[in-house]
This record gives sequence, C-alpha cells and structure tokens, in this order.
Amino acid sequence: MPEPRIEHPGDAIVRVTRSCICGSDLHLFHGLVPDTRVGSTFGHEFCGVVEEVGPAVRNLKVGDAVLVPFNIFCGTCWFCERELYSNCHNVNPEATAVGGIYGYSHTTGGYAGGQAERVRVPMADIGPTVIPEDISLDDAVLLTDAFPTGYQAAEMGDIRENDTVVVFGAGPVGIFAAKSAWLLGAGRVIVVDEVDYRLDFVRRFAHCETVNFRDVRDMAVHLKKMTDGLGPDVCIDAVGAEASGSALQRLTGVHLMLQAGAATVLHWAINSVRKGGTVSIVGVYGPTFNAVPIGNALNKGLTLRMNQASVKRHLPRLIEHVRAGRVKPSEVITHRIPLEHVADAYHIFSSKLDGCIKTVLTM
Ligand code: NAD
Ligand code: ZN
Ligand code: ZN
Repeated sequence: MPEPRIEHPGDAIVRVTRSCICGSDLHLFHGLVPDTRVGSTFGHEFCGVVEEVGPAVRNLKVGDAVLVPFNIFCGTCWFCERELYSNCHNVNPEATAVGGIYGYSHTTGGYAGGQAERVRVPMADIGPTVIPEDISLDDAVLLTDAFPTGYQAAEMGDIRENDTVVVFGAGPVGIFAAKSAWLLGAGRVIVVDEVDYRLDFVRRFAHCETVNFRDVRDMAVHLKKMTDGLGPDVCIDAVGAEASGSALQRLTGVHLMLQAGAATVLHWAINSVRKGGTVSIVGVYGPTFNAVPIGNALNKGLTLRMNQASVKRHLPRLIEHVRAGRVKPSEVITHRIPLEHVADAYHIFSSKLDGCIKTVLTM
C-alpha cells in the first residue's frame, strides 16, 4: 500500500505501535459485510505515535502517543453533540445509519485501517486521546474498542442493582461486557459460549458463571431454570452475525436457507430474557436484514437497545477503572504476532486455535 499522507488540514499521520484483530474483522474476513473492497486495509483498534499533523490540528503534536477510538467523527453534528459519536452525520454522510470506522468497508466510509505501519487519522483533533503516562500501551489499545464496547453493551442493558445478566459470547467484547455488568451493579452474571478455553478465561477474569451451549438442549428453558423460572433481567448479544457454526444448527425453526440472515443469539436472547427485560445488542450484523423474533419481543414487552459503541464517551470513566486496578484490559491478550504474519494471525483467531482470545499485531 502507498504511504498515507495528509489529505485534509485536520488530518494526522500516526505510526502504529499496537494494532489488534477484532471479532468485527472476522465479519469482513468471512465476507459478511457488504462493500468490502479488495485492496482496502483492515484494522480499527490501534494506538501509535503522531508523526505528522495537518495545519488545522491544534490538540495533537508530533511525538504524542495516542489511542485512536475506532469511530471517526466530527464532534459537532447533531449526533456528536449528544455523544452518539458512532452515528456521526458528517463523516460518512452517504450512509443512512453508521458513521465512519477505520478499515471497515465502504459502508463505513472506506477509510484505511490501522493493521499497517502508518495510518491517516482524519479529524485528528476530535477522536484520538493522548495516552496517560500511567496507562500501558497494551491496556490503551484495548480502550480503542473491546473494553468500551463491552461497557456500552452493559450500559445499554440498563442493569439495576442485583439484576441477573446473561452475556452471549465469550470473545473480548463479551468478556468486557461481563466485567462491566458487575461494575454497573449486577447481582449475577452468566456467560454463554461453546469454546471451553474462553469460558475458563471469563470465569477467572470476570468471576461469573458460564454455560457451554453445546451442553444445552433449549437455551430459553435452561436459562429460565437457572433464574427461578422468570428468565434473566438482561441479555447481551456480544456475538453478532455468524458465518457458520454449531449454534445455527441448533436453532430450531430457522432453515439453513436463511443462514446469512439468521441470528441464533438474538433468538436465544429474546426468548430467554424475562418479560419486560432488556436485550442489548453490540454484536455486529453485516447483512442489512436478519431473522429476528420481533413478535416474541413485542408480546414480552421487551426493550431492545443496540448501537456501534461511541468509544470516546466512555474513556474518562474506563481509564479511571484501569487506574484503580478494577480492570486490567491487557489480560485478554493471548497472542503477539508481527504484522508480516497477519494472515496467520487471522487464521488462528478465526479458527480459535492455540487458546486465542485477543491478538496484538506488532510492528
Ligand atoms: P469474537 O469472534 O472473538 O467472539 C465471539 C464469540 O461468540 C466467540 O467466542 C464464539 O465462540 C461465540 N459464539 C458464536 N456463536 C455463539 C452463540 N450462538 N452463543 C454464544 N456465543 C457464541 O468477537 P469479539 O471481538 O468478542 O466481538 C464480538 C461481537 O461484537 C462481534 O460481532 C463484533 O463484530 C462485535 N463488535 C461490536 C462493536 C460495536 O461497537 N457494536 C465493537 C466491537 C465488536
Ligand atoms: Zn473492534
Ligand atoms: Zn458528528
């Protein structure tokens, strides 16, 4: 790829020091996100050092170590004023819904991503945050997406004191959602996945209960049995679109023909949560429509909440949690792989080999 260069007065060029692979990248990798073009650079979770700034940049200077939230946003539009940075109206105005995201197809603006040595950072005065001296780079890179997204998932669950929260997915996002559920007052946290090493990890990291869905015949019945017959108060979807896998095959009533649009987790979440409960969705759905049991949701009087995370909104609070030692985000890092072996890194992460939870690409 050609070296990035300043294209607008508000741009900066950042030399990447840490870059992660995310479950969202797997949706690109599996071809589930429309308008993913050959020749684009992936990567929306990175931190680095500012190498060059455009003439309009005031808040950053050459040499600053920054963490860069995955959203690209203007900071001034109707949505940004309400801290809905992921829905910024000015960065990706052609799209009807989502704002800009680094390295995430032309549906989110076609910006080059940070799985690279250098990256152009547009609106550099708005998104990047100078990394505080007492925050390590490994913790910082997890503040660009995985931890804030898990936190927002829990926040959108409107958790009340002592609520029972079920998190579907024990990837990095689900792991941080489970941890965040405690921070927000949950009384019980249960994480569901099929990958035992991830369930082992989340039990240690977030002190929660776990369910391996391979051992369960009917998810709603099982979770109701675990929760006095009512069902959990809050269900969080930290899985999203599934490319394949055993979960889909377990979903009765959904023909495989619908596979691209079927969402096992949404069925499980909506059918399990107690009446009047909340389903919070951060799992990403690449296809524009999905098979969702909306009739059940209506009859149960559920609240459904969802969004791409607005990372910057959460940073002050999450940096405090890291400082206070309540959360050590970098504990989820299992692999460090040089950028030139990025193809192997995708293979390991995608196939869940070698105990992989989070991979950092090193430069
Ligand atoms: P990941 O791929 O590491 O983890 C997903 C986990 O879900 C895996 O461990 C998998 O075994 C498990 N799983 C698959 N089907 C399941 C099912 N039916 N029930 C329970 N678990 C199941 O991904 P991640 O990095 O943790 O990201 C999780 C999701 O969050 C992805 O969809 C990703 O795109 C999305 N995401 C959203 C945002 C946002 O802002 N909304 C930001 C980051 C990631
Ligand atoms: Zn991500
Ligand atoms: Zn905006």
